[in-house]
Amino acid sequence: MIQDLNHRSIRYLRLSLTQACQMRCVYCRPDFHTNAHGHDGELTPAEINQLVRHLACRHGVRKVRLTGGDPTAHPQLVEIIRLIAGIRTPDNHRLELAMTTNGLALASHAAQFAAAGLQRVNISLDSLDIRTFHEVTGLDALPQVLAGIEAAVAAGLSPVKLNCVVLRGKNQHQLPEILEFAAARGLELRFIEMMPMGPLRDRWHSLYMPAAEIRRAIEPAVECMQPLVQGAGSARNFRVLTRSGKITTLGFITPMSCNFCANCDRLRITSDGNVYPCLMDEPRGRLLPALRPAFHAADVDDILVQAYARKKPEHPAWGHTIMTQLGG
Ligand code: SAM
Repeated sequence: MIQDLNHRSIRYLRLSLTQACQMRCVYCRPDFHTNAHGHDGELTPAEINQLVRHLACRHGVRKVRLTGGDPTAHPQLVEIIRLIAGIRTPDNHRLELAMTTNGLALASHAAQFAAAGLQRVNISLDSLDIRTFHEVTGLDALPQVLAGIEAAVAAGLSPVKLNCVVLRGKNQHQLPEILEFAAARGLELRFIEMMPMGPLRDRWHSLYMPAAEIRRAIEPAVECMQPLVQGAGSARNFRVLTRSGKITTLGFITPMSCNFCANCDRLRITSDGNVYPCLMDEPRGRLLPALRPAFHAADVDDILVQAYARKKPEHPAWGHTIMTQLGG
């Protein structure tokens, strides 16, 4: 098992399957970014299978999250899910297999993803207002995403969590409505502080809302809110009773106002095999030469050990890359 210099081990792999995404969220994918999936430098399903199997057997990885771009923009997503779902840890357990998605493909494919072995899903939902949704994502697709959320629940994916990036002046007044929406459906919701990376990096100061302000913004919908014991994840969770009498779990993901780097057990690998020990850092290794033309376990281990040794105690103040490239 690899540990970094601060004794943090890798347990959780966030694997970006593609840089392509059907959406162009204002804080995530810049205008210049192309949307094409598939080039020679992208890991194949077989390479992904070998790599994840190795990480599970030799490095202690227990959880995998498929991300992107949008993982549903990958034409072989079902095959990849099936391959990873078939991997067993040395003590013969399945990996926890989750996906983060914009939700567009779920109405038509959630059941297929669940049948292939996907267990849980996080769906981005920044607004319930058709115009704001369009403004933030670049797509007129709110009804499709809402149908996707329903389909994910119906397919038995559990938990289904909603991710909402908070943008001052764009969706800040809609947060109570989003909270009521999630609570009415028994869905967990997380409000995410915007990070200074990607296309809005230079406007981050004017758009960023810290969790303390987000809490004030949701007061109209909150009857009572109690902290839950901090789990292994990045969110600080609360049990919330809403004004309409619904109960749900609400999380705040606070990379900027109160980072959770001390407990970080994450390793990030991009669709072209670059290794990022931290979301906001630079790439610290290239796996492709160790995977192609044939898998070289010792080389993979060397690259990971070196990358992990460079994981900093805390994330840098500014992100070096864009989310759609790296996978959030
Ligand atoms: N396309 C998928 C989606 O929409 O969820 C998965 C990839 S996306 C990069 C993963 C998450 O990162 C989303 O919840 C998105 O809102 C979040 N994200 C992207 N850019 C961000 C930023 N600058 N600050 C905070 N969160 C960001």
